[in-house]
Amino acid sequence: MKQQTKLIQAGRGKKWTGQAVNPPVVRASTITFDSMAELAHASQHKGDRVPYYGRRGTATHFAFQEAICELEGGAGCALYPCGAAAVSGALLSFLQHGDHLLMVDTVYEPTRALCEKILRPMGVETEYYDPMIGAGIERLLRPNTKAIFLESPGSLTMEVQDVPAICNIARAKGVITLLDNTWASPILCRPFELGVDISIQAATKYIVGHSDVMLGTASANEQYWPQLREHSYILGYCASADDVYQASRGLRTLGVRLAQHQQNALKIASWIEQRPEVEAVRHPAFASNPGHEFFVRDFSGSNGLFSFVLRQGGAKAVAAFVEGMQYFKMGFSWGGYESLISPTLNVQKLRTASQWPYSGPLIRLHIGLEDPEDLIADLEQAFSRFKAALLA
Ligand SMILES: *Cc1c(COP(=O)(O)O)cnc(C)c1O
Repeated sequence: MKQQTKLIQAGRGKKWTGQAVNPPVVRASTITFDSMAELAHASQHKGDRVPYYGRRGTATHFAFQEAICELEGGAGCALYPCGAAAVSGALLSFLQHGDHLLMVDTVYEPTRALCEKILRPMGVETEYYDPMIGAGIERLLRPNTKAIFLESPGSLTMEVQDVPAICNIARAKGVITLLDNTWASPILCRPFELGVDISIQAATKYIVGHSDVMLGTASANEQYWPQLREHSYILGYCASADDVYQASRGLRTLGVRLAQHQQNALKIASWIEQRPEVEAVRHPAFASNPGHEFFVRDFSGSNGLFSFVLRQGGAKAVAAFVEGMQYFKMGFSWGGYESLISPTLNVQKLRTASQWPYSGPLIRLHIGLEDPEDLIADLEQAFSRFKAALLA
């Protein structure tokens, strides 16, 4: 089955949908049983998409979990109220006092905050590594290294990691690998084929796709699924049936949306690259992007998210750029149908184990589904405001 067909079929077996096209929204805390035997059966199979208690999910959740497994390739998928909860839930399901965690230096900022503010006081030591380390990760392994956390491409700066090189070494040493796979969504790369043990999605982004629901997933291979499932359940992570329904719905158009995001973003990134004010474009599909060769090898395409670095400019000039946009809205998150803009003045401040090569400000864009000509006109005016502010 081709991927676009899989996106339409996944999680839509009659078992979940009945005679309808979509699985229904089944809201429940209590699940009721008619007999001791039924209760015993549910208790034995409570991790296998058999209704047991609301926190373990209903048919709405089971259909979506099945779909994510089919798309990403995991043995099972746990659901969380947001992407940040999926990150914390997956890490807390495996880490204990005394463990050493290797964390990519370009990780999503709240994940770094989790390591520093929650894990470190609990006795888990996080050591950050250069995103381009590849097989060099071996030098950082210690006897107590429990897990390696990857995010590829890196948040904001888009370095693409050599995921298989890192996972090969980790697997040989019995170290768990977790990948924040949000940028790729469940369809632009196959994390389990690259050797990853646990793949995390902020479903909030492209899966939901409409900037109106928060949801997270963590999928695991056969080896780690039982512990991920049980420990996340014990920690109390769950998601509402209404939100999961919206995510299921988002999956059906994920392929066509991503194709359009990709096309629009490539067009706009190429236009930006020609601008004299721009020092560099960070887009994984561009040959100049660190790890581009791994992108070509491991990904089937790109999306609407990329960044660029201006040659110069302080807070005032950057404000002139990002304020007064007609279509690009300023705000966090990405993956919806709309365009977003987000400035970062000091990238180096966000990392400790690698050198950021530029001194100018960085601007991250999420390119939505608007007509790219309109978006380019919007950016053209932003560059004019920026230039005027530099001269003022
Ligand atoms: C947004 C994001 C998250 C967190 O997701 P939320 O649903 O906002 O909690 C985690 N990782 C990455 C890479 C993200 O972009």
